[in-house]
Amino acid sequence: MKGTIKILTILGIKLEMHITFLILPIFFWFMYGMKGIFIICAIFTCVAAHELMHSVVAKNYGIKVDKIILLPIGGIANMRSNPKTPMQEFMISIAGPLFNIILALVLYFPLKIVLGSYSLSHPSLITWSGTMAYAYWINPILAGFNLLPAFPMDGGRILRSLLAIKFSYLKATKIAVGFGHLFALIFAFIALTSQPPNLILLLIALFVFMAASQEQSVASLKSTLNNIKVLDVLPENVYSVNPQTTMSDVLNQMLHSNQEDFPVVTDEGRITGFLPREKIILTVQNKELDKKVYEIMLVDFPTATSSEFLGSAYSKMESTHLKALPVIDNEGILKGIITLENVSRVYSLFARKQRK
Ligand SMILES: [Zn+2]
Repeated sequence: MKGTIKILTILGIKLEMHITFLILPIFFWFMYGMKGIFIICAIFTCVAAHELMHSVVAKNYGIKVDKIILLPIGGIANMRSNPKTPMQEFMISIAGPLFNIILALVLYFPLKIVLGSYSLSHPSLITWSGTMAYAYWINPILAGFNLLPAFPMDGGRILRSLLAIKFSYLKATKIAVGFGHLFALIFAFIALTSQPPNLILLLIALFVFMAASQEQSVASLKSTLNNIKVLDVLPENVYSVNPQTTMSDVLNQMLHSNQEDFPVVTDEGRITGFLPREKIILTVQNKELDKKVYEIMLVDFPTATSSEFLGSAYSKMESTHLKALPVIDNEGILKGIITLENVSRVYSLFARKQRK
């Protein structure tokens, strides 16, 4: 995401803040002085800790977490892959809200003694004790909002993972998406019938509705792709290049064929590198067409096998941001390449077939 500032690295995870988050302290300082700054720092810490808990559990399951981005509306943990089982999804999703609940429970009695029960139950930004109470209530509110059973909130994922014990992943997603749509409609109804109409809640309703629909299409894409093997759709012809070929020859090949990504193979047909389209375009932009393939190619890249399901190949492309993968056999001999275009073409054909 553009416009983020790196703050710190904690437990091996980069914590970044979106610049729009900076507007808040200025605004709150203007409105409430130091108490405003304090409350923003408290929100910031609670959201960051919430996301960090999701990330720590995910990392425990071997899922790579690139970074956590904090936005004024909440946080996003950028994970490289998806949970592999409903149990993993459940544990990762519940970790965030559970942390906020535990923190709220632990802090309740000490704060009740320090602030008094009246102040604790009357948060305000006028007095310092009211501000402390405000900071306290961030946790239960954050937990409550995130536990709503609607995508993209954690509650939507928790609901799906519980439904997936009884139903297939696709069916579980469909039911959870239905709940998401229902909540969006309830939010929209409340927003439009309040006096005056609550525009922020209306926007949240719209966001929740779209996020639920998005989750549905991702799930149906994955279920379709998990029924088709790479071999079933592998294009017949593939052009490969030699490590000693010049980049201008590769560009020529790219322009005269439908192929945009090139596997690099040795004389024995063994794969040794990969030239994705982005690298080739970069070479043109940097005027490095006289360079040899081995100077430009990727040496560390994922591959697929023909017996692999398309869903797994697609996940590899997704997590490495590549638009193609070389397909090899057990001996490392090139069999072809599979591209994102292949995947989407197959998906649109099969999805159409299913709808009939
Ligand atoms: Zn969360």
